[in-house]
Amino acid sequence: MGDTQKNGQSSGQDMYDAVIIGGGASGLSTALVLGRARRKVAVVDAGEPRNAPAAHMQGFLTRDGMPPAALLEVGRAEVSRYGVHLIEGRAETVQPAPRFFSVQLAGGPVLRTRHVVLATGLRDELPEIPGVRERWGRDVLHCPYCHGYEVRDRPFAVLGTHPNSVNQALLVRQWSEDIVYVPGTRPLTADDRERLEARGVRIAAAGAIVQTLTDDDRLHGVELKNGTVVPCEVAFIFPRMIPNDSVLDGLGCTRNEAGSVKTDNAGRTSVPGIWAVGNAGDSRALVISAAGMGAAAAFALNHDLVDTEVQQSVTELRSARTAMQSGAGLLAEQ
Ligand SMILES: Cc1cc2nc3c(=O)[nH]c(=O)nc-3n(C[C@H](O)[C@H](O)[C@H](O)COP(=O)(O)OP(=O)(O)OC[C@H]3O[C@@H](n4cnc5c(N)ncnc54)[C@H](O)[C@@H]3O)c2cc1C
Repeated sequence: MGDTQKNGQSSGQDMYDAVIIGGGASGLSTALVLGRARRKVAVVDAGEPRNAPAAHMQGFLTRDGMPPAALLEVGRAEVSRYGVHLIEGRAETVQPAPRFFSVQLAGGPVLRTRHVVLATGLRDELPEIPGVRERWGRDVLHCPYCHGYEVRDRPFAVLGTHPNSVNQALLVRQWSEDIVYVPGTRPLTADDRERLEARGVRIAAAGAIVQTLTDDDRLHGVELKNGTVVPCEVAFIFPRMIPNDSVLDGLGCTRNEAGSVKTDNAGRTSVPGIWAVGNAGDSRALVISAAGMGAAAAFALNHDLVDTEVQQSVTELRSARTAMQSGAGLLAEQ
């Protein structure tokens, strides 16, 4: 990882302009724009990006199909060119002080910074169905925009494990005509049934989903409690998405309806100096949009820093002028 530091040990007590917590697409993109704006920036990254289980990253213009890890490797090399400190480690807390924040890293080091950017992504809490975790990102999928094209026209099962599962089935129908909705133990309303039927989605028998079935390392079905096997080559599930934002506990950031830290279009939270970008603030962000959110936040953050610095310089200039004037007055009196 080039000049990556281990756990911030050599970063000392310098004041950063921005500490970015999370070095995925959103965090590195924030760092790139701030580094190029000649800001003093650190990125602390625990190295577990959300899309790590997938072999390829799709839908990123000019990088479609690139392995996720390769994108981040290029990103780290790019930000390093602008003097950004890359720190391998985990941030544990962010504490406010009168004019800065202290970011406590696991293992002891503390970074002092004027701004904090939360770029920690989210974690997907998967349904407790044996096989789902092992196949996640391969043939058990969530996002058709990420993988739908690659599995187009294959037999899909959509597992009814989440309130959004019916909508997911209606959506993924765009990528295949061969779809079965497996309701599991979630009741279907008459309206759900009608919409699924109208869209040409078959509905399997109700009953607990016991496991996914594989053969030769490929998904071939989903087994129900009554012994029925629903054949499929791809299963879609809707995970519970939980933002990785516990580092901000106690700061009082307002949350949105989805439970994420609420931001404006530039990533500003309700707490001045705290920003959130990528999946940490918006579970729908794809890699390219997470990167875009990072760039937009960096742009606004740098402007905020310039405003503060102009204000400080004006105050200093005025006091220097006042001191000179009173000095000149004293001389004139002598
Ligand atoms: C299986 C799968 C496949 C996907 N495929 C695609 C795809 O093909 N195309 C696409 O556009 N999108 C895809 N996505 C969505 C994609 O993962 C997200 O859009 C993207 O990861 C968001 O970037 P991010 O920077 O917000 O978060 P992440 O990429 O998750 O990066 C967050 C980083 O922060 C670190 N971190 C978390 N907490 C801390 C902490 N306390 N201290 C320090 N570091 C911390 C994490 O370890 C991680 O490295 C996929 C998602 C999944 C689940």
